[in-house]
Amino acid sequence: MSEIDQRNIGLSFPFADHAAGPRPGDAEVFELRPGVFWLRMPIPIPGLDYINLWLLRDGEGWTVVDTGVRSSKLQALWQQVFERHLDGKPITRILCTHFHPDHLGLAGWLHERWQAPLWMTLGEWSFGRMLSLDAQAEVPPEVLHFYSRVGFDEAGLDKIKQSGFGNFRKAVTEIPRYYHRIVEGDLVRIGGHDWRVIIGRGHSPEHASLYCAELNLLISGDQVLPRISPHIGVYPGEPEACSLTLYLRSLDRFADLPADVWVMPSHGDVFVGLHARIAYLKRHHQERLDILMQAMDRPMTVLDTLPLLFKRDIKDHITLAAGEAMAHLHHLMLEGQVQRSLNAQGVYEYSRSVMAEAAQ
Ligand SMILES: [Zn+2]
Repeated sequence: MSEIDQRNIGLSFPFADHAAGPRPGDAEVFELRPGVFWLRMPIPIPGLDYINLWLLRDGEGWTVVDTGVRSSKLQALWQQVFERHLDGKPITRILCTHFHPDHLGLAGWLHERWQAPLWMTLGEWSFGRMLSLDAQAEVPPEVLHFYSRVGFDEAGLDKIKQSGFGNFRKAVTEIPRYYHRIVEGDLVRIGGHDWRVIIGRGHSPEHASLYCAELNLLISGDQVLPRISPHIGVYPGEPEACSLTLYLRSLDRFADLPADVWVMPSHGDVFVGLHARIAYLKRHHQERLDILMQAMDRPMTVLDTLPLLFKRDIKDHITLAAGEAMAHLHHLMLEGQVQRSLNAQGVYEYSRSVMAEAAQ
């Protein structure tokens, strides 16, 4: 029971005392249930460092769940996995939980290498295809307009301009032009077992988790993670998004799962304690909402709220942090607790609503 802290009360880690270590090394696998393997790949995302991928024996082939970000290092690791862990059988299906590059990045390459179909939700496949086709050198004016309303000054906007509008495309191999659609409630038959699709929202448009009652396993993707709270943000493509509201609501879709289900998250270790973790995640966001409400004695811009919400240094991730803050502010607006206005500089300012003031 190592690695338990405040955030992980009520969680246990089945591999904590495993002879080979608490988690598989590069190109190694741990077997969770007969035919279900845990595989990890390094990713260059600070704070995440690794993504978990899943290898499921599937009749005369293998289903892989998620793929890793586009990189020659990961392709070389995959090559080792092909040689060591597939028992000479092909990969016959690629299933991606959502479009983020650490999940979808090598799907195109695997698809071509194995001629295996890609299974995803419509929302995730089309969003990923759209973003990769939308890539261009110049940052579109709508994006700069969005961030000027958030409160970025000229220097901040210049930095956004310099980062360009093609980073997603660089992180993925070409996303297949056709795919196989999965929807909420689908039973995906893998290796003689049914895996039920559970759709999550807020972290990405139509995130697929997969639950197998027979094996008592949940591939939670990025929807439920141990130790870290999944990123929930608002971005220029949907400036009025209520991502946090959608996220909190979709967590309830896990309510009927057994308490002792093994959760297979995309980051961090396999754990038991789904409901304790979901309760913590809800509490975590409620605390953030409370902090914002208490601080709003004066109108605040999104950037004003960042020191309240983030204790760590966020200067390299300021758009992510701003997106996260907006997700919380929009949730409060939807609840009628916060109102928004445009100040003389064209920046949004948020303040407690008349209703919230009356309740103070
Ligand atoms: Zn993600």
